[in-house]
Amino acid sequence: MAKKQFKAESKRLMDLMVNSIYTHKEIFLREIISNASDALDKLCYRSLTDDSVGLSRSDFAINITLDKDARTITVSDNGIGMTAEELESNLGVIARSGSFSFKKDIDSDKAEGIDIIGQFGVGFYSAFMVSDKVTVVSKAFGADAAAKWESSGADGYTVSPAEKDGVGTDIIMHIKEDSEAENYSEFLDSFRIRGIIKKYSDFIRYPIKMDGETINSMVPIWQRTRSEVTDEDLNRFYRDKYFDPEDPVKAILVSAEGLVSYKALLYIPKNAPYNYYTRDYAAGLQLYTGGVMIMENCAALLPECFRFVRGVVDSQDLSLNISREMLQHDRQLKVIASNLEKKIKSELKKLLADEREKYEAFYKSFGLQLKYGTVADYGMKKDMLAELLMFRHASDEKLLTLDEYVSAMPEEQKFIYYAIGESVAKLAAMPQGEAVRDRGFDILYLTDDVDEFVMNILGEYSGKELKSINADDTGIVSDEEKKETEQQETENKDLLSFVAETLSGKIASAKLSTKLKSHPVCLSARGNITLEMEKYFSSIPGNDKIKAERVLEINGSHPSFKALKKAFDSDRGKAAKYAELLYFQALLLADQPLDDPLRYTELISELMI
Ligand code: ADP
Repeated sequence: MAKKQFKAESKRLMDLMVNSIYTHKEIFLREIISNASDALDKLCYRSLTDDSVGLSRSDFAINITLDKDARTITVSDNGIGMTAEELESNLGVIARSGSFSFKKDIDSDKAEGIDIIGQFGVGFYSAFMVSDKVTVVSKAFGADAAAKWESSGADGYTVSPAEKDGVGTDIIMHIKEDSEAENYSEFLDSFRIRGIIKKYSDFIRYPIKMDGETINSMVPIWQRTRSEVTDEDLNRFYRDKYFDPEDPVKAILVSAEGLVSYKALLYIPKNAPYNYYTRDYAAGLQLYTGGVMIMENCAALLPECFRFVRGVVDSQDLSLNISREMLQHDRQLKVIASNLEKKIKSELKKLLADEREKYEAFYKSFGLQLKYGTVADYGMKKDMLAELLMFRHASDEKLLTLDEYVSAMPEEQKFIYYAIGESVAKLAAMPQGEAVRDRGFDILYLTDDVDEFVMNILGEYSGKELKSINADDTGIVSDEEKKETEQQETENKDLLSFVAETLSGKIASAKLSTKLKSHPVCLSARGNITLEMEKYFSSIPGNDKIKAERVLEINGSHPSFKALKKAFDSDRGKAAKYAELLYFQALLLADQPLDDPLRYTELISELMI
């Protein structure tokens, strides 16, 4: 019999399948089962109005048989079937409007084309990823005779008459021989095939049977109403599916109807997977349509800031394949994504309000993610995320939200104060904090690298400006005190310029401080680059030129200032040494590296002699 040629596009797709290096070849079964399910849908629909179908809803099924000796896997359905002409027109060309865009994708970037296989599936042709010959025997509803379509790959196909008892289609896939790189025989293993069915087609609405036994559960947990499932049902599903021994802190069941109708089951985990903060973690929700999983990790369904959320979205409104307009597809996903974002936010807020302990456990794992989310994209999500953030603080050991900080503020307090450093213990020892705390003002203690950027991007919360206790003007000093300090500064102008000169190259200026109480000195920064930023950037190669303009602040009423002053009047050499010592002290207190430790010990030793 003469072989017919595939249409050009189909041939390309076929080539891609036959030579596929795509790793999840197992999805061929999902595609074939999904086609069978569609065929059942069509005949089932017909049966509603046409008595001659002679079948009712419960008669429809998909049967899978394995023959290890013949190396075949057969998927049979008693659906609508295909005539000889339909076999030709349906399987001889890619019957999809989306095929053109698919072709473009594989032209421009082969890897991307392969990704599309995983994301959207490529239908019937995917059988050729695992088979060296595919035979389709089909009898269409209403037809007298059956027909057979057969192909061993890209060089063409044949269509011939065939024998078949009932209406429906058998897809007989002859599995490729194993090679060094690939073990195809696994697709002849009943256990493996059951696993694949469970994984991808568990919720197909018709029974998928092997040896008479139904493999799939047919009604997915997310399709049930909240009253039909227990908390334990939801948690067990999570533990099994995501291999997490611990229950999530929250399971969210969503049923939405409207512009786009969908069901979703979302989970907020308690613990971050070990690879969460690496590139290896695959974020996204599993996407189903019509009971068929079409994407394992659909990242477009989740905003980056909530990438820790796991779960499933199921919408009949999405198309399984790439044949529909991609744009429209995108728009529907966007509607779902934006609804889910709101839902996740409100559930997190509820958790924070009602189940503090659970929220804190969640925050321990994913607080950093929320902070990254706050600064990402120029703070696009900052308003949404700010109220979910938590910080350590000066008043006690507990984590504090910004709302809690603001509502505990004494009336006269104008700013939200924060300090950034390596550890809470070091921050608590910062000299600048003393005067702030003395007024009964709390201080947020921030120890993550990203915190500086979080504070900058937020700028304020609830109308209160966020202020570093290192800021030039921390706003706690009365005008009178300021005036006094200014006057004292004028009186000591020469001394302060002497200090600045002695330490030139190290500091930009020296001044008398309004921030200090019992400590002699502290280090602050002038301008936009703070000491913390400098430290952060110095850890990134190529950014070591980003330097803060350092200001040495001296406590004018501290005995060491008096000693400095005395030395300045009588012994400039000694005064210079004192200035150096004060600078070293400031470095130590600010948790900055001592640029010259040898010099520091020399100075101390000299003082001892
Ligand atoms: P898609 O299913 O996305 O349209 P496929 O390449 O998987 O694309 O299948 C092409 C066409 O072949 C289907 O649209 C359908 O008309 C027909 N077809 C495939 N499998 C079956 C089947 N088991 N029963 C009836 N028709 C089928």
